[in-house]
Amino acid sequence: MSDEERDMEAGTRSRHDSLPIDNRDWTPPKHSVTAQLGLVKFKPDEDAHLLVKDKSVCRDTCRRKFCTHTCPAQVYRWEEEEKTITIAFEGCLECGTCRSGGCPYDNIEMSYPRGGFGLQYRFG
Ligand code: SF4
Ligand code: SF4
Repeated sequence: MSDEERDMEAGTRSRHDSLPIDNRDWTPPKHSVTAQLGLVKFKPDEDAHLLVKDKSVCRDTCRRKFCTHTCPAQVYRWEEEEKTITIAFEGCLECGTCRSGGCPYDNIEMSYPRGGFGLQYRFG
């Protein structure tokens, strides 16, 4: 009997403990949001179409870092060590949430990427 089997029998290890740590081999269900987003392609522009106007507001005033929760593409990320917000604009879904309530301090300037750049939907 392996250590793993012994632990399972003793109840000190669950089945989840033997799952791989990363999920590279995980395939989402066919019609899940994750699977549908996998069909989206991006052609990033060199110029960012998203800008945080004043990062000191993020650092000193905005305690809850709302944009990191409201953006469906998780474009905004709070870097605790550097005490700054970062923007991975290349993955933006152009939904407009961050300029219509996603930031209660009106601290995000969002435009749309130039023609031919940004989001490209594929259907199927
Ligand atoms: S919600 Fe606005 S103020 Fe808060 S961290 Fe995001 S961009 Fe900064
Ligand atoms: S437009 Fe939508 S996807 Fe793009 S950064 Fe704003 S909230 Fe995120």
